[in-house]
Amino acid sequence: MACFTRLIAFAFAAASLFVASPSWSMNMEYALVIHGGAGTITRDNMTAETEAAYRAALTEALRAGQEVLASGGTALDAVGATIMVMEDSPLFNAGKGAVFTNDGRNELDAAIMDGKTLNAGAIAGVTRVRNPIQLARAVMDKSPHVMLAGAGAEEFAREQNITLVSPTYFFTQRRFDQLRAVQENDKDALMLDHDGDHKYGTVGAVALDKDGNLAAGTSTGGLTNKKWGRIGDSPIIGAGTYASNKSCGVSGTGTGEYFIRLTIAREICALMEYKGYSAQEAADEVVQKRLTEIGGDGGVIVLDHDGSAAYSFNTEGMYRAHLNSANPDPVIGIYGE
Ligand code: ASP
Repeated sequence: MACFTRLIAFAFAAASLFVASPSWSMNMEYALVIHGGAGTITRDNMTAETEAAYRAALTEALRAGQEVLASGGTALDAVGATIMVMEDSPLFNAGKGAVFTNDGRNELDAAIMDGKTLNAGAIAGVTRVRNPIQLARAVMDKSPHVMLAGAGAEEFAREQNITLVSPTYFFTQRRFDQLRAVQENDKDALMLDHDGDHKYGTVGAVALDKDGNLAAGTSTGGLTNKKWGRIGDSPIIGAGTYASNKSCGVSGTGTGEYFIRLTIAREICALMEYKGYSAQEAADEVVQKRLTEIGGDGGVIVLDHDGSAAYSFNTEGMYRAHLNSANPDPVIGIYGE
């Protein structure tokens, strides 16, 4: 059975190598790439209505970031604006649509990184912050630290006048039903948001602005049924999120424990910086090969300092979209075609 599962994983990995990645002209002014999670996302388990809802949400998110970039705003602001749209949507496992923990709560993680300065901000395990990416940005800009967690992070949010909400704001019946369904089978089972029939995910964005600066951000509710204050890769700089003007910006989604062990995001940038890999080559090397070899699954979005973008995932699908100044209309992908 394990052998069969591995074969299937490799089949998907091989298939996803053929996913068309965006290739853009080298003199573009700005570029933006986003994801809304990777996983069991196939045409068979998608209705036309659901697909249309995702396409609309991805478009709205891209447009928010594009507005910032087109008017000369920074990559950091564009990443924040883009991710906030997805955090406010119940479709994604971030902000409003976050999955539930083992004890029926929602614990949110997020990170943002500036490729110009290597400054970064991250938060983990917050339960009352409406837009975690906004708090991650405040940690970067307004504190001497990189990462804050739990009650302390919320105290900092209060001091910074970041919008706090009642934990009930994050209640959605669909997510609660997912938790109950998982617990019925095995009260301790962990579920990646996209396993089985589930098609909702962590969100991320990478942007290049008119000054040539890169930024990356990621926001998530983590894994359904997580406990003990479990934190995944998304808020860990170098694992789920990374940006450096010397190489690239990356945001990932998938089984966080594997992304942490491989420091996936930094690894991709390192291959580009030290070995001269293209964004696509580096993403494929790390996701298709190394991540698959150790049994992890998921995907990444990558953007290099010239605005060349790449997607790579070893799952059946990944919600993804991009645009840039030369091709300003959203190009959206969902399945592994
Ligand atoms: N990477 C996230 C985590 O492990 C989950 C996801 O991408 O959906 O927390």
